[in-house]
Amino acid sequence: MRDRSGLLFEMAKKYIPGGVNSPVRAGNAVGIDPPFIVDAKGCTITDADGNQYIDYVCSWGPMILGHADPYVVQAISEALGHGTSYGAPTEIEIEMAKTITEMVPSIEMVRMVNSGTEAGMSAIRLARGFTGRDKIVKFEGCYHGHADSLLVAAGSGVATLGIPGSPGVPKDLAGHTITLPFNNIDAVDYAFSRFGPDIAAIIVEPVPGNMGVIVPDQGFLRGLREITSSQGALLIFDEVISGFRVAPGGAQELYGIMPDLTCLGKIIGGGLPVGAYGGRKDIMMRMAPVGDIYQAGTLSGNPLAMAAGLATLTRLKQKGIYSDLEKKGEMLFSGLEEAARMNNIKVTVNRVGSMGSFFFTPDPVIDFASAKASNALLFKRYYAAMLDHGIYLAPSPFEAAFLSTAHGEKEIRKTIECAAPAFKAVKTD
Ligand SMILES: *Cc1c(COP(=O)(O)O)cnc(C)c1O
Repeated sequence: MRDRSGLLFEMAKKYIPGGVNSPVRAGNAVGIDPPFIVDAKGCTITDADGNQYIDYVCSWGPMILGHADPYVVQAISEALGHGTSYGAPTEIEIEMAKTITEMVPSIEMVRMVNSGTEAGMSAIRLARGFTGRDKIVKFEGCYHGHADSLLVAAGSGVATLGIPGSPGVPKDLAGHTITLPFNNIDAVDYAFSRFGPDIAAIIVEPVPGNMGVIVPDQGFLRGLREITSSQGALLIFDEVISGFRVAPGGAQELYGIMPDLTCLGKIIGGGLPVGAYGGRKDIMMRMAPVGDIYQAGTLSGNPLAMAAGLATLTRLKQKGIYSDLEKKGEMLFSGLEEAARMNNIKVTVNRVGSMGSFFFTPDPVIDFASAKASNALLFKRYYAAMLDHGIYLAPSPFEAAFLSTAHGEKEIRKTIECAAPAFKAVKTD
């Protein structure tokens, strides 16, 4: 029963558009009102009716250590005693910047912001300012936050709600954004053959997570590096999800490809609102106050956010974290795949480490078109059945499932056990 959540949702809708502060939370795609959350610890979240769920949303990625990790909570509490914001430089910002440059291979300098959206928006401005060019290339189904230039053929909630573009984004601006199919290097070659001298940057999720998880063809990522280098454009990796998720240094470490600029968010804030963008020193030095390109933030580098983020990154540097996450990812997704197969349901599983998706389709899912070809109705039924069994998934077929270090084998086994009846319900409903 989710009576109290239902009541809260009705109240919320009076004062907040759709009752939510971020669209995909509302559950439109699955036709189920969202549980309102009151508590979270480890891999478990509790709703307003006292139902407990094993959480595979992990706040859409950030909670890689699970909820209320004692080390992170202590770091925040200690910072809290010294005030919550100064709008002046602090030592912890140096430590944070140093840690990021040590962990992420291509980042020589970094600037902290307050969200992934801000990171993407700022990186694009920097790329345009640095190259003196206006056009950008992005890929269908990739989401880079909701800044004007990037809200074209976007993934995540935009994909879930089937919004093609967004009213309010000027046509002139959207016209500078070229969208291409992911994993298709020929399309990129063609775009550069036509618009090369005008293209400032390619922005890409190196491991897309916003059309469900897509595994990048490594030749594709290498191709992006080669073509941008030869054409004088910048390569921007949006690692807001994949950063500190698929490896300590993100997808660029995993695949050994060095972008010029990188966007970070989610995990880097340890559950507080944080983003960052960074990269080559000669490019980053174009930012004010040393350079001429402007970007600023009243709360950027906020001491609580830095404490939470730094504590999280520090924990992630411990040995064995990523091999453990890989093992759990393999266990969960192979278990779910097996449960589907036992029920004669054809699914395609895409997974990189502790992030993964499975699609209700027998065909490979390599881009947005193939992701959209999966069966949305089956997903809807599966989601409802899993929720009733106490498994909390993202309410959309175009989102990833995330594991944390707090997910134990016991919870993963339980999830797989719940999936068997859920797959049955999918067929017979
Ligand atoms: C979540 C996300 C963003 C936007 O971050 P917000 O903090 O929600 O603004 C940008 N890029 C990617 C790849 C994301 O997954």
